[in-house]
Amino acid sequence: MTLAEEDYIKAIYQLEADKKGNILTNDIAAKLSTKASSVTDMLKRLEKKGLIHYQKYQGVSLKENGKKFALKLIRQHRLWETFLVKSLGFGWESVHDIAEKLEHIHSDELIERLDHFLGHPAFDPHGEPIPLEKGRIWEIKSQKLSEVEPGYEYVLDAVIQPDNEFLIYLNKINLQIGSVFKLKNIESYDRSVEIEMERQTYFLSQETTFNLKVRKHGA
Ligand SMILES: [Zn+2]
Repeated sequence: MTLAEEDYIKAIYQLEADKKGNILTNDIAAKLSTKASSVTDMLKRLEKKGLIHYQKYQGVSLKENGKKFALKLIRQHRLWETFLVKSLGFGWESVHDIAEKLEHIHSDELIERLDHFLGHPAFDPHGEPIPLEKGRIWEIKSQKLSEVEPGYEYVLDAVIQPDNEFLIYLNKINLQIGSVFKLKNIESYDRSVEIEMERQTYFLSQETTFNLKVRKHGA
């Protein structure tokens, strides 16, 4: 597998996880910021390798071994992120890009030793579950902050798009995995929200609430 092929497999997996319904060429092009024509070429290659089902105009889905491979990459990515934060002292905002490179090193022995060294962590520093060796992954019952009711206390479970600038912003307002806050109000005009945390009030944009996964405090 080439690096690009691996990135496609992971992108299709993530699109399938986010979206109900067919994954189309344009969805993949948008996710990987590339042209639809290059996506089509790549999909034909992945289909030949037996990793995906692909029919023109009908969309793409991963075959069982494509899915297993995607979960393997995600496992490697999330273990490396955990290592970078826990063992090397990086901030959670600066590990994703490094892990994007490290995830492509394929050595089962290295990964098993890494997992053992870290004490078999269940979650990465962004709160996402680390898939198990056999390609199983925990189902987490959290919801997007953009989809929950106001008037309750919530715990931040995970950050969906852990990109650098977003995490720096969360650092600024001191919002971390495990932070507890009350969702006070949702503005019907632009879906921005008001939260109260440690007696301080913050207003979060809809872009922010789309990217945070929460569960009811105490639930
Ligand atoms: Zn990451």
